Amino acid sequence: MRRAAALIVGGGPAGASAALTLARAGAMPVVIDRAPGERDVVCGGFLGWDALAQLRRLGLDPLALGARPIHRLRLVAGTRVVETALPETAAGLSRRRLDATLLRLAEEAGAAVLRGRTARAVEERSVRLEDGETLDADALFIATGKHELRGAARPIEGRALSVGLRAAIPAPPDLAGTIELHLYDGGYAGLLVQEDGAANLCLSVAQARMADGREACLAALMREAPLLAERLGGVPPNEWEAIAGVPYGWRAKATEAGVYRVGDQAAVIASLAGDGIAVALASGAAAAQACLHGDGTGARLYQRDFARRAARPVRVAEALRHMAEHRGERRLMMGLAKMSGLARLAARLTRIS
Ligand SMILES: Cc1cc2nc3c(=O)[nH]c(=O)nc-3n(C[C@H](O)[C@H](O)[C@H](O)COP(=O)(O)OP(=O)(O)OC[C@H]3O[C@@H](n4cnc5c(N)ncnc54)[C@H](O)[C@@H]3O)c2cc1C
Repeated sequence: MRRAAALIVGGGPAGASAALTLARAGAMPVVIDRAPGERDVVCGGFLGWDALAQLRRLGLDPLALGARPIHRLRLVAGTRVVETALPETAAGLSRRRLDATLLRLAEEAGAAVLRGRTARAVEERSVRLEDGETLDADALFIATGKHELRGAARPIEGRALSVGLRAAIPAPPDLAGTIELHLYDGGYAGLLVQEDGAANLCLSVAQARMADGREACLAALMREAPLLAERLGGVPPNEWEAIAGVPYGWRAKATEAGVYRVGDQAAVIASLAGDGIAVALASGAAAAQACLHGDGTGARLYQRDFARRAARPVRVAEALRHMAEHRGERRLMMGLAKMSGLARLAARLTRIS
């Protein structure tokens, strides 16, 4: 059995942000991640201005990594298109590039990063790995994102869940500088150009729409979103990264002593708002600060305070998601989006900072 002062399970943006903050303060955190190396994950790759500011504070310049600046939002519903300027510059960057760079920075700051190690279960602050090893920690950070950990699963029963899909496609020329969102019943598809010049295509779909299988669902979406079908040349990609059971709107309001939930394990903002990465970075840093400066009650205070901090962006994002996912309200939303002041206000109200 090994012991760590701070053990972080999951090396996505939340876990890496916590690790970096702890390591730079002189703590020697241990991060475990089940991925053996760089990989694509289900994510739109949209970095809002709050995420960009946080990344810069962590010492990472997304533009130097090749992130493509984004200035405009294009909303598409059926054949109707509305375009509006974003209040501030955002950017498109693949999660492959972002996650690998954040973890490398954490390692350089002194964190031990154990790749290809999967946590199977947790009991208090003791984590059992797939290979049978047990890691004990004074402070445990649960940063497994969209994945549940046995013994610490989020209580999300009874929620309407969504499925996320992600693929890369050739970028259409008029996508440069734009985040394009195609709205349909139960979800949306997001498109942006990432650092390698390909377009990152990410779909969020109500899990109930997948009842007849992925192919049938995609075929129906192509009919409902003809301009998206056009982008895909009429044929959806064959290869997708996929994740099920996404509980939009969920927030952790309590925790146990010494256990910090960060990222999607702390709050799941509707992905349509494009602020999940910012929430992950902010929660990771806040939890690490609480751990460094708090007494034994640090974890509970952090969790309560972060739930409050995330309340407004999560609620506003839920309201927007509801409008976008239902046909009648979608029409109203498209009309409102034409009023650039309102669109900019909605974009601002869904930021965590
Ligand atoms: C369809 C969709 C589109 C999205 N688009 C955007 C967007 O454009 N912009 C944005 O800001 N947000 C977006 N989000 C939200 C964003 O992806 C998440 O909020 C963000 O990834 C959360 O970061 P995290 O670090 O908490 O978790 P994750 O990024 O999920 O990272 C979790 C890490 O934990 C590891 N892990 C999991 N289980 C274990 C285990 N048992 N043992 C060891 N390691 C484990 C994984 O390998 C992974 O590296 C989107 C979400 C969805 C569903």
